[in-house]
Amino acid sequence: MVAFQAKDQIKNVGEVLLSVRNLRIYYGREPALIRAVDGVSFDIKRGEITALVGESGSGKTTIALSILSLLPPAAKIVEGDILFKGRSILHLKSREMQRIRGKEIGMVFQEPHSYLNPLIKVGDQVAETLILHENIGKEEARSRVINIFEKVRIADPQRIYHYYPHQLSGGMAQRVGISIAIACNPSLLVADEPTSNLDLTVQSQILHLLKNLSKELGLSVLLITHDLGVVSGLADRVVIVYAGKVAEEADVYSIYTNPQHPYTEVLLASSRVAKIKSNIEASGFLPDLRNPPAGCRFSTRCPYVLEKCSSEPPEVRGPNNSRVYCWLRGG
Ligand code: ATP
Ligand code: MG
Repeated sequence: MVAFQAKDQIKNVGEVLLSVRNLRIYYGREPALIRAVDGVSFDIKRGEITALVGESGSGKTTIALSILSLLPPAAKIVEGDILFKGRSILHLKSREMQRIRGKEIGMVFQEPHSYLNPLIKVGDQVAETLILHENIGKEEARSRVINIFEKVRIADPQRIYHYYPHQLSGGMAQRVGISIAIACNPSLLVADEPTSNLDLTVQSQILHLLKNLSKELGLSVLLITHDLGVVSGLADRVVIVYAGKVAEEADVYSIYTNPQHPYTEVLLASSRVAKIKSNIEASGFLPDLRNPPAGCRFSTRCPYVLEKCSSEPPEVRGPNNSRVYCWLRGG
């Protein structure tokens, strides 16, 4: 049986595991080309939780799907690359990617009931993932599943093994979803809004579970959310995206105590756990991604907008180990 590795046993903690480089993904075609992801770069380090935060439509799911090679046919990768363990995975053949997906990169989505098969016992669904990727027999897979259910704090795993998805609450179903995602001991977990459909108490239990799994297994997590509030006490680094571009990236403490980008301030002001008081508000909507502003994409809503902001894309600035794309800040 493959034992779960503890974080302190994992070598190379802090090394870059996945690198998204100048990624551009557009949907549709001219003249209605939607620039959904428009030059996005960030790194995910080993053993760290990286949060990707931005409002609806900012391109988060598109980025997640590109990491998993699950983009819909309407999406075109226009530029950029994604390196996993130093190797480009953006243009792998589908068979090669299938081997990585599920085994090396696990995924959790918003609605576990939508991807669990309603006709198969949940335990068997986790076992199937193990049998597919690890070439083991049914008996061994079964005992591994019980072990995994214990890892995700499912009480009474022997009994839950035989449940069908409809017998589970949303929180329990998401624990099963996480079990499938971590079954093969992946090094990266991509979690796209894993708690948005759950009530607040369950939401925080699932987020703590992700944090504990990251610590115990040395798992890197890309946690996608529109709510900066869920990220505090959880993520190590935060990448703020707005309208297909990175607005700011920093460690979680700096994001909360010293946000640089006005958009980060807006997100903080609207989150429940803001540590700073901000009076800024930004009304309005994301710009039309078929015809985005020539300068900063946030310029149409920014309370501090300067003349230059509307015409020139901001250069990257920021102190060590952080980035902000804003003409006003970080200089
Ligand atoms: P949400 O928080 O609502 O999940 P998101 O940040 O995940 O939003 P995406 O789903 O990546 O954003 O969408 C980014 C942009 O790409 C949006 O303008 C969206 O309308 C567009 N888009 C997404 N999928 C498609 C598609 N299959 N065809 C055309 N446009 C799409
Ligand atoms: Mg999304």
